[in-house]
Amino acid sequence: MSDVKDFENLSTATKVVGAGRRKEWTGAVVNPPIWRASTHLYESTAALAANAQYNEDGRFFYGRRGAPTQWALCDALTALEPGAAGTVIYPSGLSAITGALLAVLNPGDVLLVSDNAYDPTRAFGMGFLADFGVETRFFDPLDLDAYPAAFCDRTAAVLLEAPGSLSMEVCDIPELARIARSKGAISVLDNTWASALGFPALERGVDITLMALTKHVGGHSDLMMGCASAGAELYPRLRQRAQQLGIVVSPDDAALALRGLRTLALRLEQQTRSALTIAQFLESRAEVAQVLCPMLPGAPGHDLWTRDFTGGCGLFSFVFRGGSAQDRDRFVDALGLFGIGFSWGGYESLALPIKPAGIRAVMAWPPASDNDPKADCHAVRLAIGLEDTGDLIADIEQALAAWRAS
Ligand SMILES: *Cc1c(COP(=O)(O)O)cnc(C)c1O
Repeated sequence: MSDVKDFENLSTATKVVGAGRRKEWTGAVVNPPIWRASTHLYESTAALAANAQYNEDGRFFYGRRGAPTQWALCDALTALEPGAAGTVIYPSGLSAITGALLAVLNPGDVLLVSDNAYDPTRAFGMGFLADFGVETRFFDPLDLDAYPAAFCDRTAAVLLEAPGSLSMEVCDIPELARIARSKGAISVLDNTWASALGFPALERGVDITLMALTKHVGGHSDLMMGCASAGAELYPRLRQRAQQLGIVVSPDDAALALRGLRTLALRLEQQTRSALTIAQFLESRAEVAQVLCPMLPGAPGHDLWTRDFTGGCGLFSFVFRGGSAQDRDRFVDALGLFGIGFSWGGYESLALPIKPAGIRAVMAWPPASDNDPKADCHAVRLAIGLEDTGDLIADIEQALAAWRAS
């Protein structure tokens, strides 16, 4: 087998299998071995001195800069992100968010944050960044008329996330990123939901894209990690800040992420299909006022999802028609095949009661529903795993019976 020369023109499924598997890192085996190392050794003092001028992945220096296992993962993630010059990995998804923001923000700056962003992202803005001298302002990513006016001279960056955390709104990411650029601000996208396979962010005009690898890439609920990728201009800034902050990921974890990555395309495809089937089932039920699933025709955000995204995943939410919070909790407790817990993107299904109202500054919750605009808004987020959809639907059906039994 010779080295593949024309990697960029291969299809995604093929890239996911081959990405990062450089012979110099894998040797005679399929996967890069786990290189556990703090100290890297030099042949001589001359070699030590000569190396000082270099700072790049793929070059031995010291453990904090990684070794072939981590480099192979970064290389693979870069290969899967069209337009990326490089990728930095972080010990959690949240640290990818904070690391990327600290790479582009300075005291005195203003950061615009999408009002439906992941809650710990909001907390970082209101907590750490406030102490650091950066002002965080929330905006409604669905209001393209108001958005340009949210910028001021000090706006240095915009944090986007789509679909929105919990409430699943899809915004016009290319347009929001284009306007940010025209205002001289850097756009940063939390692309955990779609991953690079479902939304090629840099190609769509975003400046920095990041993912919680904890979710889809890990895929097996046993790993915490994040990554951020950017083009030639911003990647060096990401990398420099990560090095200054002492960010490092263990080679054992990098190997787990690489293992998860190899089945990413298959799992996303299957989970998207299953989620759509279950979303359609829920839509047909009288107990459900609204299904918040961008893959579902007619659901909020479906048109933009169809226009901009190349894939989906297993994560969506739905709103009960009436009922109480206790009824909602009884539904979740009655589920037998869905675990109750945070995170998502694993092979197993999860359910979570959600309350977005407490973490919105400018966006409306509950969402407007054609079916029943006055419905009390008790909602659940489902992460659909790889179980049989017939079994999952039967499980949901019996849990809906428990919801009705009030
Ligand atoms: C889970 C999640 C994160 C954070 O990832 P961790 O690895 O748990 O820190 C960030 N963004 C989104 C959208 C997430 O769902």
